Amino acid sequence: MSALFPTYKRFDVSVASAKGTTITDVAGKQYLDFGSGISVCNLGHRHPAVQQAVEEQLGKYWHVSNLYDIPLQEKVATLLTDNSVGDYVFFCNSGAEANEAAIKLARKATGKTKIITFKQSFHGRTFATMSATGQDKIKDGFGPMLNTFEYVPYNDLDALKTALDDQTAAIMLEIIQGEGGVVVGDDTFIKDVAQLCKAHDVLLIVDEIQTGLGRTGKAFAYEHHGISPDIITVAKALGNGLPVGAMIGKAALGHVFGPGSHGTTFGGNPLAMAAADAVLEIIFQEEFLQDVVQKAAYLQEQLRTQLEQNPVVEDIRGKGLMIGIVCSEDVSSIIPKMIEKGLIVLQAGPNVIRLLPALTVTQNDIDQALHIITETLEE
Ligand code: PLP
Repeated sequence: MSALFPTYKRFDVSVASAKGTTITDVAGKQYLDFGSGISVCNLGHRHPAVQQAVEEQLGKYWHVSNLYDIPLQEKVATLLTDNSVGDYVFFCNSGAEANEAAIKLARKATGKTKIITFKQSFHGRTFATMSATGQDKIKDGFGPMLNTFEYVPYNDLDALKTALDDQTAAIMLEIIQGEGGVVVGDDTFIKDVAQLCKAHDVLLIVDEIQTGLGRTGKAFAYEHHGISPDIITVAKALGNGLPVGAMIGKAALGHVFGPGSHGTTFGGNPLAMAAADAVLEIIFQEEFLQDVVQKAAYLQEQLRTQLEQNPVVEDIRGKGLMIGIVCSEDVSSIIPKMIEKGLIVLQAGPNVIRLLPALTVTQNDIDQALHIITETLEE
């Protein structure tokens, strides 16, 4: 019997080690990893630059508290602000914590409480971020949610306009809904949301926890739409496997989070910062992002041509290396078959197979994955 709370229905893979895009199980079987720990190991498992940075920091110090200056935090914060529209960074340990910080900041900055989010969104599992999430199944059994949030259909500007009122502090938006099924925000919709926020003096919070840090071929997915969010949240890929999150905000919000207003023991931990520094130095390079765009174009094009005639496949959607294969049936029995054949993929919503390979994936990896995907879906 397991001594773990059964919060996860686990696949039949017991991991012994991982390197690059390969996971090896305790029996020695190898898997090609097209899930990257849900868009965490975006540079592949144990990327040498990240490993070296963390090993060096291990020999210096591991934790001192945020009561003291940690130079690496300044370095990582500057990398994030130099490469985004934000000016200040608050470090934490996870995506949910980054969104918690964003919700607190938006409420304190505006003195208002209402935050509009979207149906099928996912923002985390803490009480505020679970409340922000637009999926009933996440909230089942937990009693009344925070009554701060109102949910409107995604990609529906009229519904958003109707929900917006003078009590609205912020709109919280995923540029692509990841957990909700790799649902891509329409370009006009995203632009209109940003404009609506400006016109009504409402803060725009963009949750880039899954879409950010190179995943869609840009440093941040909001860049595809030329918008300028007030608050951006990231986590997942920031540490390439070490737990870390960040909330990035505009200069005008700086004074709102003064001393004592918000905090965390572990946020900005030096080991996590060493990893984040190494990650961002790679991911923010233009050539790196160009390479992601090229590989993504190849993978998406091959999926479209190879699966065009497949009766189960309805659509291929996504951006960059965040891809959903939309099927006409529940995919929960298909995914274990792909894993059995040595390809780790993810599910998003009932009928979407989600691919989130490392951004360092090779053409050979892609071809191998395509072979397993097409073969399984043909069966
Ligand atoms: N926001 C989005 C868009 C996510 O995809 C996730 C996790 O999947 C979260 C928030 C929550 O992040 P975490 O699990 O690190 O708390």
